[in-house]
Amino acid sequence: MSYKFSSRSLSRFDGVHPDIRAVFTLALSRSPIDFTVLEGVRSVERQRKLVASGASTTMNSRHLTGHALDVAPLVNGAVSWDWPLYHKLAPVIKQAAKDLGVDLEWGGDWQSFKDGPHWQLSWKKYGKEDMVARSLPKPKPTKPTGLAAIIAAFFAIFGKGRK
Ligand SMILES: [Zn+2]
Repeated sequence: MSYKFSSRSLSRFDGVHPDIRAVFTLALSRSPIDFTVLEGVRSVERQRKLVASGASTTMNSRHLTGHALDVAPLVNGAVSWDWPLYHKLAPVIKQAAKDLGVDLEWGGDWQSFKDGPHWQLSWKKYGKEDMVARSLPKPKPTKPTGLAAIIAAFFAIFGKGRK
């Protein structure tokens, strides 16, 4: 069977790098274990709290810029913190990243601070120049309204005679 992200998981992709979205969408379609998105983009304020509590060690987190995603296996619909499940999930995600040519790192491979749910795009391939806002809505082309409409109409009428 193939799992699909819940609408809550999908909403947590907001502002996250499209390469991460592609990897995890492919991974979930192949995964033998269901998993959920815990967190994508994180505010500076929340990051400060996590560092203060010891849950995170850096203010340079890739979550702040949409370059990281936390996922967790689901067992009977509930988030599991069992390391063996993370080790089962990791190869599926790594293979999906490899197949899509995305340079992705797993927090579970870190030596000093192992972070099982954490995945991030490498600094090497996705550096500072890659940090652009991805969550801003694209401006929709709209017809001029109000004063702009009056001015446009004025020039449509009176601008015609001039060449
Ligand atoms: Zn994380």
